[in-house]
Amino acid sequence: MSSTQQQINIKEMIEKDRPQWLKDYYQFLSFPSISSEPEFKKPLLDCADWLMDYLKKLKFNVELWQTSGHPTIFASNLEAGPNKPTLLIYNHYDVQPVDPLELWESEPFKPTEKNGQVYARGAQDNKGQCFYVIQALKYLIQQDGKLPINIKLCIEGEEEVGSHGLSGILKERKKELKADYLAIVDLGIKDMQSPALTLGIRGILTMDVEIIGSKTDLHSGTHGGIAKNPIHAMVELLATLRDNNGKIMIPGFYDEVKELSEEEKRDVTFHFDQKEYQDSTGIESVGGEKQFTPYERAWTRPTIEINGINGGYWGQGFKTVIPAKATAKISCRLVPDQEPAHIAKLVAEHLRKNSPAGVTINVQIRPGSGKAVRIKPTAKVVKAFAEAYQEVFNKPCEYILAGGSIPVVTELAEACGGEVLLMGLGLDSDQIHAPNEHFGIDRIEKGIQIMMKGIKKLEG
Ligand SMILES: [Zn+2]
Repeated sequence: MSSTQQQINIKEMIEKDRPQWLKDYYQFLSFPSISSEPEFKKPLLDCADWLMDYLKKLKFNVELWQTSGHPTIFASNLEAGPNKPTLLIYNHYDVQPVDPLELWESEPFKPTEKNGQVYARGAQDNKGQCFYVIQALKYLIQQDGKLPINIKLCIEGEEEVGSHGLSGILKERKKELKADYLAIVDLGIKDMQSPALTLGIRGILTMDVEIIGSKTDLHSGTHGGIAKNPIHAMVELLATLRDNNGKIMIPGFYDEVKELSEEEKRDVTFHFDQKEYQDSTGIESVGGEKQFTPYERAWTRPTIEINGINGGYWGQGFKTVIPAKATAKISCRLVPDQEPAHIAKLVAEHLRKNSPAGVTINVQIRPGSGKAVRIKPTAKVVKAFAEAYQEVFNKPCEYILAGGSIPVVTELAEACGGEVLLMGLGLDSDQIHAPNEHFGIDRIEKGIQIMMKGIKKLEG
């Protein structure tokens, strides 16, 4: 049978079976498995149970690994035998909170279809992407009675809160996680016309900064002109982080930043559609370091961002105080070869050194940082899936980078020991983490086909 014929058969099979898998997908989406809020622990565990039952029916050996936080599902089907390669696939079953609820057009845990898109929290991130993986495995088993290669699944329950639990057990689970290839299925493509694989993600680092002035809030008439205002101290301090060209002014910050090689520049598509970006966000692309193009800045350069500032009087009316304290939340996105712990030290030192006189500063680095990841398009697993994308989209697969971070990837890759693949079918317009998150039914169908083809290509 020719590969086009085979493709038609797979497509037909998926389409014919659509009512069944849509029902299953909706059920998966109906669990409010929100990892950040303790009152959702029960539905989160119910969701894990549901998923484990589903995988057991697909002839997987399923275990629930307890962690310091929410449990990780580990499932394996090693029927292909020791002469075939092993692929470990990573997904997560937890989701983000739903607020502000009033901005949702349908209920977040009652999946609703509109114009071929399914609206629900987790529809894309990451239940949708997890779901097409599982369906692909189901059809592969249906087709041939067993999987062509050995498959292990690691589906964690707290990606949205930093993966601390999974991260803590990776070393002791090294034997189980060992694989030739590791596929992280939590990424995306630029648009529906451009099949793409991701060759890198940025690292991340977060911290809290607190500036304390007086013992209590002070009257700005009595003390204004004498006392140093902590909010002024905070904005003066934060203004020292970057110059007017967007360059980060922290000594040593760029020392380990590796420039992109000519080869890497050639491999990656940096095309940026300014108009489309402006239409969807309402802003111009003027953030970051001026001498780089937008995608160079978002994918290959490190950043420092102020994510929140707090302090002073925010009630109705007005209160003329010099506040006792100001706080800020700061994050950095990191690139190869920046070490999160080292950069954290540099940022904290800079903040302490430049803190204005008359106030006290506290800097607290948060746990859950992660290094950037970069992979080569020549890796066997990347080549196999690039071909799979090309066949399903009927267009050559592009290579992109991603500005986001999945902190657990580096550690998981170390535990697994295999070549890494960063893939997915998310779109920027899916509104993940926001109201009205959605995922296209066409992308689930494509995802199933891509996974089936990619896995088959790894066999030979
Ligand atoms: Zn997410």
